[in-house]
Amino acid sequence: MGLGSDLHRLLPDRDGFRLGGVWVSCGFGVAAHSDGDVLLHALADALLGAMAAGDIGDLFPDTAPENANQDSVEFLHAALDRVWAAGYRVGNVDLTLRLQRPKLAALKIEIREVLSKLLSIPIDCVSVKAKTGEGLDAVGRGEAIACEAAVLLLPCDA
Ligand code: MG
Repeated sequence: MGLGSDLHRLLPDRDGFRLGGVWVSCGFGVAAHSDGDVLLHALADALLGAMAAGDIGDLFPDTAPENANQDSVEFLHAALDRVWAAGYRVGNVDLTLRLQRPKLAALKIEIREVLSKLLSIPIDCVSVKAKTGEGLDAVGRGEAIACEAAVLLLPCDA
């Protein structure tokens, strides 16, 4: 099993951001070297964590120019390639997003569908939950978005 977490600063006066491979339209964006998909970053780190294979910062340093504006789906693929090469498959994933606004209720099913395809697992093995920061801390003040991810890997022959 593996755990991953990530947090990005929010920037005003942008027209949205990517989350779990899905575009979220709103009046702000995410500060990042890559495309800033906090969910895919946490998920990729959880996959790598389950393999004791480092983190996405090791694989894709944010000091490397070629990683600028990188599609985070590539980070996920890189982690998945390692999982599959080692003879494992993803059993289930459980994700908790932390964002003060906008409300993500309508987007959660869309994100689950995208993740189900990316991970090649049934949608009922993909959990996406969303919490606010209750007006407290950086999330609660609308300054940041965060995500925590837990994954279970199973041997491919199980
Ligand atoms: Mg990140």
